[in-house]
Amino acid sequence: MKVVVTGGGGFLGSHLCEALLYRGDTVWCLDNFCTGAPKNVTHLLPEPRFRLVSCDVTEPFDVPGPVHAVAHLASPASPPDYHRLPLETLSVGSRGTENALRFALRRGARFLLASTSEAYGDPEVHPQPEDYWGHVNPVGPRSVYDEAKRYAEALTTAYRRSLGANTGIVRIFNTYGPRMRPHDGRVVSTFLRQALAERPLTVFGDGSQTRSFCYVDDLVRGLTAMLDSCSEGPVNLGNPGEFTVRELADLVLKVTGSPSSVEYRPLPVDDPCRRRPVIDRARAELGWSPTVPLEEGLRRTVAWSRSRAADRPATADP
Ligand code: NAD
Ligand code: UDP
Repeated sequence: MKVVVTGGGGFLGSHLCEALLYRGDTVWCLDNFCTGAPKNVTHLLPEPRFRLVSCDVTEPFDVPGPVHAVAHLASPASPPDYHRLPLETLSVGSRGTENALRFALRRGARFLLASTSEAYGDPEVHPQPEDYWGHVNPVGPRSVYDEAKRYAEALTTAYRRSLGANTGIVRIFNTYGPRMRPHDGRVVSTFLRQALAERPLTVFGDGSQTRSFCYVDDLVRGLTAMLDSCSEGPVNLGNPGEFTVRELADLVLKVTGSPSSVEYRPLPVDDPCRRRPVIDRARAELGWSPTVPLEEGLRRTVAWSRSRAADRPATADP
């Protein structure tokens, strides 16, 4: 297969490019590097089946030759990133998604939309099945991301219903692992960076809010299964293990052996109270379920962070 991965220079995209190349696909990685970085994929450049193209997918784009699938991952994803890039986030969720859909339709390629558990907002139904419509504040600080993804889901569905596009939607829950940016502001990368630097872990609110954390290798297996299927989704992809943020902090301290303390900071506006996926549809339609428990995934991520730190000169705040 030849697969175009938008946002392929980011955290999830770079792992997806790697997995696709590993199984023999040809991969075109399109990215404007607003939150990703070329270094995430430079190790793939010697592979002749890999192409890296610097481009903004909010502008129409093209790729030569036949294309079998488009995985549309381009979008800022961490709260500090989409707060910093509000209009860009809305634009890539709307114009960027439409450009990627048009391109896929023209080529007769399967289209995969990387949507998010944020589509459920601060959920009133727990855990979240795909047929729950969500509870999103359309004018809150998170709306630029949540509503862009909800619009992207509606657009993808309309392309399927009105134009016969071959589309699939996955709703990705919090995912972590090697290659997360230490300063991306997400909770796992932040706690790991703080613990390894022996600085206080910053817990927002009282730490009783919950999230379900999926290891990146599991998630990428779900993405490739969805690319290979004809499922239209939406399909939740996430690990149903549910942890409070305070439990996550304790686990990070255990896994790193860090002496860091925990400091409490104000809870951000509209921070969802709880999050856990129902994954029955992923099991039934994709034969997918996650296999890496949180503690094991954290150990692997810590090992990667330590090896990375050993490879570069010491800085004040790794
Ligand atoms: P990331 O920020 O590491 O990667 C996103 C990539 O998209 C970056 O490389 C960025 O430069 C690129 N990009 C953004 N706008 C672009 C544009 N206009 N043109 C071209 N490239 C552009 O984030 P990630 O964690 O890898 O997330 C990837 C996708 O998965 C996103 O769509 C995100 O919404 C979705 N997702 C991720 C998670 C998670 O926990 N990581 C959870 C839910 C959904
Ligand atoms: N969080 C925290 N400390 C941090 C960063 C995040 O306590 O330094 C909390 C945040 O308030 C949220 C949870 O961790 O309740 C997950 O945050 P993240 O930004 O990783 O993902 P999202 O809120 O988008 O699910």
